[in-house]
Order: sequence, then C-alpha cells, then structure tokens
Amino acid sequence: MIRKLSDQYMNEDRDLAPYAIHNLATEGRRHREEPHPFRTDFQRDRDRILHSRSFRRLEYKTQVFLNGTGDHLRTRLTHTIEVAAICRTIARALYLNEDLSETIALAHDLGHTPFGHSGERALNALMKDHGGFDHNLQALRVVDELEQKYPEFDGLNLTWEVRNGLIKHRSKGAELDGRKLPPMPFIEAQIADVADDLTYYGHDVDDGLDAGLITEEMLGELEIWQMAVEKTKSRTVRGSRERLRAFTIRCLIDMMVGNVILTSDTRIEAAKLASADDAQNLRHRVIAFEPEFEKKTLALRKFLYGNVYFCDSVNKVNEDAVEKMRSLFRKYQKNSSLMMGRFAKARIAKVGLERSIADYIAGMTDRFAALEYERCCR
Ligand code: MG
Repeated sequence: MIRKLSDQYMNEDRDLAPYAIHNLATEGRRHREEPHPFRTDFQRDRDRILHSRSFRRLEYKTQVFLNGTGDHLRTRLTHTIEVAAICRTIARALYLNEDLSETIALAHDLGHTPFGHSGERALNALMKDHGGFDHNLQALRVVDELEQKYPEFDGLNLTWEVRNGLIKHRSKGAELDGRKLPPMPFIEAQIADVADDLTYYGHDVDDGLDAGLITEEMLGELEIWQMAVEKTKSRTVRGSRERLRAFTIRCLIDMMVGNVILTSDTRIEAAKLASADDAQNLRHRVIAFEPEFEKKTLALRKFLYGNVYFCDSVNKVNEDAVEKMRSLFRKYQKNSSLMMGRFAKARIAKVGLERSIADYIAGMTDRFAALEYERCCR
C-alpha cells in the first residue's frame, strides 16, 4: 500500500486548522515544476534545504562559542536542529503545518557568517557603502541564488511560503519579488521565530554553564530560572548536581514551549482567525509568550547578552577571528582573482565586487575562513 500525494492532501484537510497554510494553497515556485509522486511541496523544500551545501556548512559555523572550542557546545547546525524540533512541537499542538514551520526553521540561519554575531557585525560594517549585510536577507539569497543544484536555474526554487517565511522583519514595509508583504509573517513563520528565541535562551544557558562563564548562583537572580528550579524540585530531589542542572534546563525549555502553546492558542481564538491571511493582517503576532512571562524571558536574554555573548572571553576570541575576516575582505577587494570558482568573474559582473565578496565570505565556515586567511593574507 502506498500513501499517495492526494492522501497527504486529504490528511492536511482533515488535520490542519483553517488558518494553517495548506500545501494545496501554495502560491508555488518561481520556476514551475511537476508535482512529486510522494512528497508535498513543503516536504520537498525541507529536503532541498537538508541536501544543500549551505546547510552542511552550518556544522562548522560558530553559534556563540568559537567553532571547535568544545565538543558539547552548540554549533549553528545543532542550534538549527533544536529549533526545528521545537517548531514541530508547537505547530503540531496548534493544528498548524509542521512541515512548513520545520522547513523555515531549517533554513533560518543559512545566511549567517562565520564567527557568530561578531562576524555579522563586521561584515555589515564592511558592506556599509554597498547595501549592508543582514543574515535574514542573506538566507534568502542563499536559497534563491547562491545554491546551485539545478541545471535550469540558480537556487533551490523553494515555494513562495518558505521564502516569505524567511523575511522576519516587516517594520519597514518588506517586499518579495516586488510584492509588498503583509504586516505580520504567517503563523508557521511566527512559530519559527519564537522557537528560535526560546531555543537559544535554553541552550545558551546550558553552554554558558558548561563553559564556566555563568553559574547557577548568578542565574538564581532570574525569576524564570527560579521557576525552572522549582519545577525540578517538584519532580525530583535526587541526583548529582550535574543531573539536576541538566534537568533544570530541560524544565526551562519545556516551560517556555508550554507557555507559547497555551498563550498562542488563546490569542488565535481571540483573533477569530478564519484563514491564513487573517493572521498576517493583524496588528500583533498570535504566536507569543504570555506578557508577564515574556518579561521574564527578556530578563534572561539581557542576562545572556551581558554575561555570555558579549563577555570579554567570548568577545576576545571572536574578535581575533573577525579581524582575519576583515583582512580577507580587503584582500579580495584588491585582488578578486583570489576568490575561488564561481565567485570570480561571473558573479562580480552580475552583483558587483563587494556583494560577491560578502556572499563568498558569509558562506564560509569558521575553519575555511581561517584557512583562507592563511592562504591569502600571510
Ligand atoms: Mg537562530
């Protein structure tokens, strides 16, 4: 017995809420393709991302701690996988399209530079007079132009919905293919957004503790951590300090996910959504933390910024790495033939020298950027 595509569509009709994005309602791809016999459009998009080179390179890109400095610390790849898993949980609980939400999550960090946030800032500064650099827009460039897997076109030819979902910030009137986008992302994209935040809150506490940058005593000042400790205590008092700590982080993440699901359900109900479009034209997002709880998450975020992301030890290592990236950029500016393969002449003719360099550098893993520095700048 084979599950046909039509059966999958029928399941979606039965299982998903009316305001979820259904595969049959997709606005399609830029280049027309025949349907696949076994996979829906969003499933194909997910697989295209998983099979892309940019996705595999996430393994060697810094999330917070310089890639390669600890075997248990998150990389962009493990961060991405965690976000995708949390997206599925939230989307499933709310009768929304899991495949679509997961796909957006898997692609959401494809545009990140090597060396984490310091890398992005540096590239944005280098591109100041050439249109700047933003990792969200870069993710779209990756899937639309930079991946080369098909004979007929550049990019992965993803559906409109996945591409649209990668444009997170709508404040300045965002556009895609010349079409003005509604004020809010659709719900599955909102899930990916919140899941991204709560995932890194959780895992950066874990990594920060692991790396010795923060302690449980320091975290004790935060209400949200106190709540997670209480949950742990209510479940167990046994176990080594390490196990209890791991379990507290588990409770922290679970609490945040649970809060998003319950709050979003209420907000969806209150908004009386009848279609996917309705959610995009509201003045607020429906996928959100409960406001009082959100304040607690923001206090945690502030704590992480001060004590982990921009603490001296992380900064110092990342800064040294980023300085190499800057030298590399300038070296390519002087001698573009040092850039390899397809980033050379044709790209420069198409998008200009600086944008070609930014695309090339943004795609690099930490270690490749370091090797390129040795090859070109020493
Ligand atoms: Mg992320």
